[in-house]
Amino acid sequence: MFQPLTNEQLVAVANDFGTPVYVYHAEQIAERYNKLTDAFKGHPTKFFYACKALTNINILKYIKQLGGLLDCVSINEVKLGLLAGFAPDQILFTPNCVDFKEITDCVDLGVRINIDNISVLERFGNQYGSSYPVCIRINPHIVAGGNYKISTGHIDSKFGISIHQLRHIERIVKTTGLHVKGLHMHTGSEIKDIDVFIQGLDIMFGIAEHFNELEFIDLGSGFKVPYKDDEKETDVYLLGKRVAEAAQQFEKDYGKTFEIWFEPGKYLVSECGFLVVKANVIKHTTATVFVGVNSGFNHLIRPMFYDSYHRISNISNPQGAQRIYTVVGNICETDTFAWDRVLNEVREGDFLAFHNAGAYGFEMSSNFNSRLKPAEVMIEKGQARLIRKADVFEDLLRGQTLPASLKGGEAE
Ligand SMILES: *Cc1c(COP(=O)(O)O)cnc(C)c1O
Repeated sequence: MFQPLTNEQLVAVANDFGTPVYVYHAEQIAERYNKLTDAFKGHPTKFFYACKALTNINILKYIKQLGGLLDCVSINEVKLGLLAGFAPDQILFTPNCVDFKEITDCVDLGVRINIDNISVLERFGNQYGSSYPVCIRINPHIVAGGNYKISTGHIDSKFGISIHQLRHIERIVKTTGLHVKGLHMHTGSEIKDIDVFIQGLDIMFGIAEHFNELEFIDLGSGFKVPYKDDEKETDVYLLGKRVAEAAQQFEKDYGKTFEIWFEPGKYLVSECGFLVVKANVIKHTTATVFVGVNSGFNHLIRPMFYDSYHRISNISNPQGAQRIYTVVGNICETDTFAWDRVLNEVREGDFLAFHNAGAYGFEMSSNFNSRLKPAEVMIEKGQARLIRKADVFEDLLRGQTLPASLKGGEAE
């Protein structure tokens, strides 16, 4: 039975490894992965972990060992995936606006390729013709997702080849002899409404009839995870049931079997992660009480970037009286994690844990304000182990060329 991490375990990591620190709970990832595979057992389905959410090599290895596959958006993610032990055909490369060289490099590595632009499709077809199969990313123009910045299917989106360019795709495929093995769509993140997936699937089925070699339809991601207490995740069991029904019907019409693919990022790794920070100062102003923590949007940018809500617990004082706080970071510009948040009384030195910090947390961190990136720790079978050291001062200088006067300490 899956047991969530306790406050005591998180406090122990903070004491042992220092703060701020990212903590990932391995069994939580397994719980998510197993739930997904169980929900979709009604039809052959594959899950490609969209690793841009969290690329620590230990996490990649863990997901590999669970049986997951990998979705990558850059050549370096592909290289990390290969290093973590994924076979080339277990990796799907879904780039956007990359140099063509990145795509040919991926052909050389043997990974699966998803093409999302007409000019690239034409160039790929001319170069490889029938010698290397492809998947085509379609933009079905479904508007979905939690936030404009994470919505990718709308009419102004730079992602995918518009469904209205289907004739153009067909011309290229016919002329160059390309083998189109899959069709892909990814309309955005945080889609609550299952009908959006089903609508997308219907659109893909409509296009599928124009291609006679399809082996899979990739529905991307968009699985929602709860951030607030009253939010619900995507009902994956209901989705699994409806996808299986629709797929089986389509197989009859199409006359061939095919797989359904998904590319969950957030769903697999959001809830496994916590960012544990320390309250440096409590500051009473005329209007509010601030908790100033030893972290900032350089470590967790989602609240400032996407207006996202992250639950916060005072893991040092979970029984304390409830009070209202504004939780801010130490970056020298507006750096607010949460306004008007009810927390158990926070004292200077207390550890706070931000929930849902696994996806797009560490991964989007930076050294802004010349601050150091935090360590990452993974808890597996009750054991905490360091999977990335915190930055040290020298990391800020790494790659910079030193002025002659600073080299070897000689006088100017
Ligand atoms: C980012 C991305 C995903 C993952 O999205 P989540 O919301 O994290 O699940 C899946 N597929 C593609 C192509 C992506 O770019």
